[in-house]
Amino acid sequence: MKLPNYVNGQWIEGAGAGEPLIDPVTGDELANVSSQGVNFEAALAFARAHGGTALRRLTYAQRAELLSKVSDVLAANRDEYFRLSLLNLGANQADASFDVDGALYTMKYYSKIGRALAEGNMLKEGALVPLSKSNAFVGQHFLMPTKGAAVFINAFNFPAWGLCEKAAPALLSGVPIVVKPASPTAWLTHRMVEDIVKADILPPGAISIICGSARDLLGHVREEDIISFTGSADTAARIRSHANVLRRSVRMNIEADSINSAILGPDCTPGTDLFDLLAKEVVREMTLKAGQKCTTIRRVLVPRQQVKAFGDAVAARLSSVKVGNPRNADMKVGPVVNKAQQSSCLEGLAKLKEECEVLFGGDKNFQPIDADPQKSAFVQPALLSCKKGLDAKYVHDVEVFGPVATLVAYDGLEELIAIMRRGLGSLVASVFSNDASFARDTILGIGDLHGRLLVVDSNVAGQYTGHGNVVPSCLHGGPGRAGGGEELAGLRALLLYHRRFVVQGPANYIAELSESCVETAPLYS
Ligand code: NAP
Repeated sequence: MKLPNYVNGQWIEGAGAGEPLIDPVTGDELANVSSQGVNFEAALAFARAHGGTALRRLTYAQRAELLSKVSDVLAANRDEYFRLSLLNLGANQADASFDVDGALYTMKYYSKIGRALAEGNMLKEGALVPLSKSNAFVGQHFLMPTKGAAVFINAFNFPAWGLCEKAAPALLSGVPIVVKPASPTAWLTHRMVEDIVKADILPPGAISIICGSARDLLGHVREEDIISFTGSADTAARIRSHANVLRRSVRMNIEADSINSAILGPDCTPGTDLFDLLAKEVVREMTLKAGQKCTTIRRVLVPRQQVKAFGDAVAARLSSVKVGNPRNADMKVGPVVNKAQQSSCLEGLAKLKEECEVLFGGDKNFQPIDADPQKSAFVQPALLSCKKGLDAKYVHDVEVFGPVATLVAYDGLEELIAIMRRGLGSLVASVFSNDASFARDTILGIGDLHGRLLVVDSNVAGQYTGHGNVVPSCLHGGPGRAGGGEELAGLRALLLYHRRFVVQGPANYIAELSESCVETAPLYS
């Protein structure tokens, strides 16, 4: 089965043999994808001319209503998305839920909060700026939805959420979307787009999908388009430096890889609730989606005197975790997505082992339950320990995109902050402590290099949202190595798809122009 592309309001099968999509448990080929022969220039032109024009005729509230219908269609097909997650990603129920339910929730969330923007077509930002003594000549800042297309280039690990977390704010803004899912797991994204197209909710050109290679896509983006990329830092660098993208100053948002951390506070000694809670959280992070989350904890900063006890606590939990075929409901950890990812994980692990001690697992010859190690793509969970954090290199640099975490010893706040900053910009760090001044000093030391900081004390132990969970009401993205992007954060996400401009002119003209505008206040509420 070849998954067709949907462009120009038509399904088009790509030419050639295509790239295979593999079941990571059995090694069987499930489908293949090809974008060969698809005219990307025409596809983008159609999206801008038809999809964009039709979407922008609607108000924000009307587009929020479209999102609500999209969200109902996706919810009705949830079981099928779980089935495809199992087949193509080796996802167990919890793994599939993280991606699929996260996607459905995010789409629903934007359909609800989008209504706060009411019946306007454009946003009016801030107060009038007086520019003459009589106030007859004034300035006003506006935010207008771009008349281009939003090009999404997505990573393999979130085929459902990756689509919805980008599509919801773009469509709500009135910008048509062209999604290019990662080839190895394109099936689920493809199925969601197919369901939306069949339901005939969006105007022609509002949604397109390219299955297979991006080929010369970036050569056809224009000044008014937006690129939203999620994936590795290497690919991000290639996209950023693309000649056409540079020449036209195409706006882009980059969500790249990230060495995320969790910190055990000095007050969290063995036997305390937070010591146990973080041990549990580390295991959850390592095992959910087999560690293939951009937000997964990679480094755990532990006071030096607690490293042995904390390592024992995590290793004890890991020893009871079953790794194997996700068709068996007892299996907690499934495979990574394919053999190439498995090799990449094992290579990364070998580098970490050069400067770390192995506390648990990481055996490249281990036997997964109910699966053939020759055909499948499992990685045994591995816990490592690094005693000299500031001298280490790979621990801060190599993102092993699998079930692997490293404990890094620290002595005091100053060293903790220095080690944390070696991550060079991350999506998220967690601080587990009942010492508010320790948490404050840590936040002040690392906040500028992180997109999200999660602080957990005993009072919120039963309520916090989880280290790896991205909630649509809060910011996702991180500086530096993490790509420098910003996504979600409620209606702030719409800013990516709007252009700010100021009109200086007669006050009465500006008053008339402002009539069809919505205040930006809901963006920041
Ligand atoms: P990847 O290899 O960088 O691929 C990402 C996407 O880029 C794929 O759709 C890929 O298409 C496409 N691509 C590759 N070369 C391209 C080029 N020259 N021009 C245009 N597009 C190109 O990343 P991945 O292996 O799929 O994803 C894993 C990485 O994503 C991890 O490092 C993870 O940390 C990161 N990630 C980050 C976030 C976040 O929010 N920060 C979220 C999820 C994942 P093909 O598949 O067709 O090659």
